[in-house]
Amino acid sequence: MTNRAFVVEKIDDKFITSVKEIEVPEISDNEILIKVTYSSLNYKDALSSIGNPGVTRKFPHVTGIDAVGIIEKSNSDKFKEGEYVVVTGYDLGMNTPGGHQNYLKVPASWAIKLPDNISDFEIMALGTAGLTAALSINELQLNGITPDKGSIVVTGATGGVGSIAVSILSKIGYNVIAVTGKEEQVEYLKNLGAGEILLRNQIDAENKRPLGKALYAGVVDTVGGYILSELLKSLQYDGVATCCGLTAGINFTSSVFPFILRGVRLIGIDSVECSLKKKENIWKKLANEWKLDDLEKNSKIITLEEIQENYQAILKGKMVGRVVVKLD
Ligand code: NDP
Repeated sequence: MTNRAFVVEKIDDKFITSVKEIEVPEISDNEILIKVTYSSLNYKDALSSIGNPGVTRKFPHVTGIDAVGIIEKSNSDKFKEGEYVVVTGYDLGMNTPGGHQNYLKVPASWAIKLPDNISDFEIMALGTAGLTAALSINELQLNGITPDKGSIVVTGATGGVGSIAVSILSKIGYNVIAVTGKEEQVEYLKNLGAGEILLRNQIDAENKRPLGKALYAGVVDTVGGYILSELLKSLQYDGVATCCGLTAGINFTSSVFPFILRGVRLIGIDSVECSLKKKENIWKKLANEWKLDDLEKNSKIITLEEIQENYQAILKGKMVGRVVVKLD
């Protein structure tokens, strides 16, 4: 068995990446060894590759917060050899070697049987990004935001989480307003199902007014910062915003007015530590009523050797859609 991996090493305080052969991991009690078929790229993986201490502190390290594959060996009653499983979140790809390798060892308690009606490729075309988009939409629905209530704004719309949120929301009948910094991707976003486009530079980062016109029923925010601050001011009465990301910044400001005058709710989304049961339920939705038909068309498939150049695109905010890593 050969285990090729995308490895980040810390050498003289620099983070150097390469694809190299490493040992196939030995599994202990209650662990499984997965022959990975696909993984994916996420913003967090790119941060890990440059040694961001909020993500990874232990080097050398194999990136990849998502993985799907076939169980090669199982030391757990929960799974048998030959079954397909998917793993996302928990410590995978953070300080635990991740999915960008042929053979991955994880605690059995992190793995979920691949749901019916979705392939190993399709589940990685969604990956943590898709799970997060779906968790956000689920919260809008649980809080009464139905399509008749008004439009939903999705920020970071060409990114992994954003593009999947746009696609699912439009599939299930919402009018989506996609916020993007990429003028050249307007057609792409319309093809995903966005009804309207708002360019990022149309959002006023210097606006000091505490409230704006009540325009939107919901917000799926993937970027944080001043964009979240501004959108909170434009939610309608009883509007709901979800917050999952930080590409525009980790801080945002708000007065209390959206909350006390319009009953606005702001809901945090965490796809990493949320319960396995919740993940299972959301994956089932993604495999059935929220299933996207064009996952292959909207994903780029790459090899281990192509990961580094794609991390650069992610870190420069230039990534469009999802990137799936195919393992041999
Ligand atoms: P991507 O890199 O795929 O997409 C991020 C998008 O954000 C970009 O494509 C761009 O979209 C937009 N963007 C980039 N830079 C800026 C900027 N300076 N200001 C405003 N917008 C910017 O990342 P993901 O979609 O994978 O992740 C999005 C965020 O969600 C990340 O912060 C990630 O860490 C977080 N996340 C959180 C999870 C959770 O469980 N809470 C799980 C998964 C992700 P455009 O050009 O269209 O505006």
